[in-house]
Amino acid sequence: MDMLATKTGSLPSARAKQLAVGGFVPFSTLDWPGKFVAVVFVQGCPWRCGYCHNPHLQQRTAEFPGGWPRIVEMLEKRRGLLDGVVFSGGEPTVDPRLPESMSEVRGQGFRVGLHTAGIYPKRLSDVLPLADWVALDVKASDANYAGLTGDPHAARKAAAARAAVLASGVAFECRTTLHPGLFDRSGLLDLAQRLALEGVQEYAIQEFRPQGCKETTWHPHATTPNLAGEDWAALQSQIAKLFRRFHWRPAHG
Ligand code: SF4
Repeated sequence: MDMLATKTGSLPSARAKQLAVGGFVPFSTLDWPGKFVAVVFVQGCPWRCGYCHNPHLQQRTAEFPGGWPRIVEMLEKRRGLLDGVVFSGGEPTVDPRLPESMSEVRGQGFRVGLHTAGIYPKRLSDVLPLADWVALDVKASDANYAGLTGDPHAARKAAAARAAVLASGVAFECRTTLHPGLFDRSGLLDLAQRLALEGVQEYAIQEFRPQGCKETTWHPHATTPNLAGEDWAALQSQIAKLFRRFHWRPAHG
């Protein structure tokens, strides 16, 4: 189902007292594997990944009709129909109202999932006790993180976020978007081995989709995927052995 949309406008000051909602998907089976969930898209992200599929959520200026109270209302009608609610973005931890919004949803009886790129490790630590499951992006090797996100400290933040989630005991998966401008075979294997050594047990690699992407030519080395065919199958099986669970998510799967 399509995301219930926003329209762009100025951010009224009253909205700062509520979670800045950028979109809502009432039913999804994709955003928390194995669970039937609603997804709340939170506005705002300080990073500027060239492959971002939600660039309209990078700023916190959209208007979602009815705002957070409408989301709560819609969720109320879905009690008993959903396993949980996922907060996604944007980067949900950018919003100071995230903790109370997660608590509110828990109070409605839903389990809570969180999608994050780990941009704010401390804020992430603070909300982990309110989460039942986390999907944590691992976007690139340390060397490529700054170039992808525009943040010179991105690799350090992402590593701190992984450490926080690992230490928390909350169920989680790490996720990497397989962009041909960011990874070759050995780079992807190196990253997977590093994550396994850190203690990550569940890992997903999702194939890059240019459709809806902010800039399809953002990276000078972005040509065509070089992990197709039998070579990829061998690498996939090599990576799968490193984790308790490994998911390969094709671009159109
Ligand atoms: S971290 Fe996520 S939301 Fe932010 S720019 Fe990158 S892809 Fe987009």
